[in-house]
Parts: sequence; C-alpha cells; structure tokens
Amino acid sequence: MSRVYNFSAGPSMMPEKVLKQAAAEMLDYQGSGQSVMEMSHRSKVFQGIIDSAESLLREVMNIPDNYKVLFLQGGASTQFTAIPMNLGTKSGKADYVLTGQWATKAQKEAARYIQANVVASSKDKTFSYIPKLDPDTFTKDADYFYICMNNTIYGTVYHELPQTGDVPLVADVSSCFLSTPLDVSKFGVIYAGAQKNMAPAGLVIAIIREDLIGNAMDICPTMLNFKTHADNGSMFNTPPCWTIYIAKLVLEWLKNDIGGLENMKKINETKAAILYNFLDNSNMFKGTVVPEDRSLMNVPFITGNEELDAKFVKEATANGFVNLKGHRTVGGMRASIYNAMPIEGVEKLVAFMGEFEKANS
Ligand SMILES: *Cc1c(COP(=O)(O)O)cnc(C)c1O
Repeated sequence: MSRVYNFSAGPSMMPEKVLKQAAAEMLDYQGSGQSVMEMSHRSKVFQGIIDSAESLLREVMNIPDNYKVLFLQGGASTQFTAIPMNLGTKSGKADYVLTGQWATKAQKEAARYIQANVVASSKDKTFSYIPKLDPDTFTKDADYFYICMNNTIYGTVYHELPQTGDVPLVADVSSCFLSTPLDVSKFGVIYAGAQKNMAPAGLVIAIIREDLIGNAMDICPTMLNFKTHADNGSMFNTPPCWTIYIAKLVLEWLKNDIGGLENMKKINETKAAILYNFLDNSNMFKGTVVPEDRSLMNVPFITGNEELDAKFVKEATANGFVNLKGHRTVGGMRASIYNAMPIEGVEKLVAFMGEFEKANS
C-alpha cells in the first residue's frame, strides 16, 4: 500500500493514526460487538461517544461554560441560512465582510431574510487580501457581524478580529477550525464544516453563546433552529454518528499525540513557513496573497503560465502529491496543509517544486 500526500481543500487528509484506529474498531467498537456505523444513536455506547467528543472539544478549545456545542448536519452552507434565521430577529440587520466565495454566498443567503449589509469587500483584487475595517462604518444596531475567518479558496485569514463592540461576531471557521487556539469568548457563534480540518463530511460543529439561542424567526424550520438541537443534546433526530465518532478520535489525537492547540499551531506555522519561504524565493512559483493576510491552511500559488501550471499539477500527481489544482477563480495551484498533513509532506512537496523549477527554466 502506498498513500499519497493529499493537498485537497476538503474533504481532506486525516491523521493516519485515526484511520488505523477506526479500521481496528470497525467490526467491534470497544466490545460492543458492533461497528459505530451500525449502532443506535440512542444506545449508551453512542451516548458515550458524543459526550466524550463534546468534552474533548471543550477541553481542547477551552470553550467557556456559557457556550453550547451543537453537532449539526447540512454542511457549512446550511448555516448561511441558520445564522440569519436564529440571530437576525431584533433589528433585522447584520453586517457582512466579503472576503471570498463563502462569505459572499452567506451574505446573499442572509439577504433573503434580513438586511445584510456589506461593510467591506476584497473582490476588487480577487480576494487576495483581508480588507481594512473601520468600525465607524459598522451598523450600530446590527444583530450580528459576520466574517469568514479563513478563506479556503483564496488563502487569506484574519490575523486580527474586527472590533464589533456589543454586536456578536459570527465566524465561519470551517477551514481553520482547530488549527490554532481561538478565544471563543470573542465570538457570538463560530461554526465549521468538519470535512476541512476535523472529520469526514456530514458534520458541522456550531459553538453558540447561550443568550443567542431561542430567538429564532417564526418561519425558521425546526431543524435549523439552534434551540431544537440545544434542548436535545444534538439528538433531536439521528445525528451523523460515524462522523462524530471520527471527530472524537481526531480530538484524542489532537490532545494526546499533538499535545493541544498551542502545539498544533507551532506545527502548522512550521509547515506554512516552509512553503511560503520557498514561494518567496522561487523564480517560477509565487503566492497570490498579500504576505500579511496569508493563511496557515490554504496556500494558493501560480507560475503565471497556465500551461506550466497544468504540467506541474500533472507531474506532481504522478509523484504522489495530489489535489494541487487551484480553484478555477484563482487558477494555478493550491496546497491545503491542514492539521493532518505531516511536516514531511510539505518538505517533500517543496523539494519536488524545486526540481520542477530547475527542469523547466
Ligand atoms: C467548504 C467551505 C464551506 C462549505 O461547506 P459545505 O460543508 O460544503 O457546505 C463553507 N465555508 C468555508 C470557509 C468552507 O471552506
């Protein structure tokens, strides 16, 4: 068996240890005589799994007690609707910053239900930077202020959070979840689709300040109402049991093998630095994002020549570096280097890029 280095933006690489453990427990989870795939979500065994997933997440992220952790479905995209329907009920206004496709989709969806103001955008330069924000331009009585923290497609991240005062900050953290420590108390809601940096597809984790639950619009579907899931321990209906189980294994790996989010951050900084240093010194490849807003997770780069980009992607694939083709709106390449990508994977990629550069210049 030979495994590739998978630079996919999501679904993406998982820690090998987690895959092996899931394989070992596939037919008989801890003496239950069943796979987690097969067991009732109302069983004691599964209750143990979801409870430990939540308590591990609370521990690893240091989540304050006045926040609920919800295990949801529908992908991050469903939260584009759930957020305005649950939070947009006082003034019916919210502010959005457009830093890419996901933020834009979220704003468009919110605008169907509330007044979703765009306070800033970086669309003018293909979202290659995070716009500077002036709090004087924010809506004073907004129900919330919305950002997409790490922009998966464009490779930017907020290194500083907007100063929103009493207005709850809502962040889509799908592609930077668990990559560094995060001060949860600075947010009203954070949510993440699991398939980027946590688990297989099918699970969204939402971390919500308690006072923001229970104010949903009357028309809010029961399944999108945060209160439904908060009141029922994320078991109003059948949760994505298998994915929650894998998330639990990943959290155990983060806690016990990595040693927590401070260490995870150091490893992620090391990996990103290897790649960015190479890009900054290369005569062929260059990064597309302004240096001060670079993401630790998603690194887009180009050669400036589409044929050469295609040749690179093809040869990289043949050498075991897969899913490097960039998003169609940026072109070129994108390396997603989430938590599970080992340092060695980035070192080998950079060595390969160096050889390619030599051979083709
Ligand atoms: C992938 C992604 C989404 C969409 O996630 P789905 O689970 O496919 O709905 C939303 N936001 C960000 C930041 C993403 O990276």
